[in-house]
Amino acid sequence: MYKKRSDMTLEELEITREKSHNGSYNLSEEKQEKKREKNREYQKKRRENMTEEEKEKEKDREYQRKKAAKNLENNRDKINARRRERRANMTEEQKEAQREKDRKYRKTSLEKNRDKINEKRREERKSWTEEKKEADSERHKKYYIEHKEIIKSRSVERYKNNKDEINKKAKIRYEENKEEKLSYQKEYYKNNLEKYTEYNKRRYQNKREEDSSRKREYYKENKECLIEYQMKYINELKNRLYEILGAKCAICGIEDRKFLTIDHIHDNGKQDRKEKGGLNGMLRYLKKIDWDEEYIKNNLQILCYNHNLGKGRRIYLDKLDEELTSEERGNKKLLMETFSFFWSV
Ligand SMILES: [Zn+2]
Repeated sequence: MYKKRSDMTLEELEITREKSHNGSYNLSEEKQEKKREKNREYQKKRRENMTEEEKEKEKDREYQRKKAAKNLENNRDKINARRRERRANMTEEQKEAQREKDRKYRKTSLEKNRDKINEKRREERKSWTEEKKEADSERHKKYYIEHKEIIKSRSVERYKNNKDEINKKAKIRYEENKEEKLSYQKEYYKNNLEKYTEYNKRRYQNKREEDSSRKREYYKENKECLIEYQMKYINELKNRLYEILGAKCAICGIEDRKFLTIDHIHDNGKQDRKEKGGLNGMLRYLKKIDWDEEYIKNNLQILCYNHNLGKGRRIYLDKLDEELTSEERGNKKLLMETFSFFWSV
């Protein structure tokens, strides 16, 4: 059953107020606007259908409203003083209830009008003196340090709940002040260059030390295990090569694996090692080419250590001087000197 507000008890009035407040507060921005539009239309229609007498009454009400607002504006101090006095006479219980009510009001009004309030603050700040700005930022810093945890958790919570809206706003604000912001950043960087380089250096060093010490630690702790794993890996791959090429010297046929080596048929071992990085690298490479048997048979052979070394000597002796690189020429010279030393003995 509909009840006029003027007929309600104070308690009922409070409940109704609360209900309508929560109702509109929980609506989305779109729905709120729709509601306002509907209300505007209703008021318009109502005014059109008024009798002269009603119009007169409405005018009077409007006048009273304006007068009350003006009264509030002009006598704010007086009204506030009266309010304070009333509060001073309250019992502790009433005071606490009033405080709770105030807190609730402040919270909802802050949530609701955050943008407006922030905008107003920004506008106000523009007319401040440098001193005042400085003092204000000091105050903020102090407050932030004292309430760091709670501020952070609140802002995280707020971001979680309004992610899209916040991102949208930030994007708009960035686009609006892009050039100003970039030039400010540039200027700041220029003026604090030392700070930046110092910071970067420190960070790099810390990270490097941390990394290498971590690696060292890890190696130290797992040394035996790592070596065992490495040997196992290499032996497995070697065995696979022996399966393809035969586990014996291609020249003398010796089968003792202690003496067996892997040899490049076309004497491009050095270049290959450079490209693939030693035995490990070559084995990795073989894995990469999926153990292509044709490549292996055409390029690699198993030789005993003696024949591998002897082959190396023969290369230098068989080739013409012009065909050798300067390094090979040096090696040949060394070999000849060794031979002539042994012959002369
Ligand atoms: Zn041999």
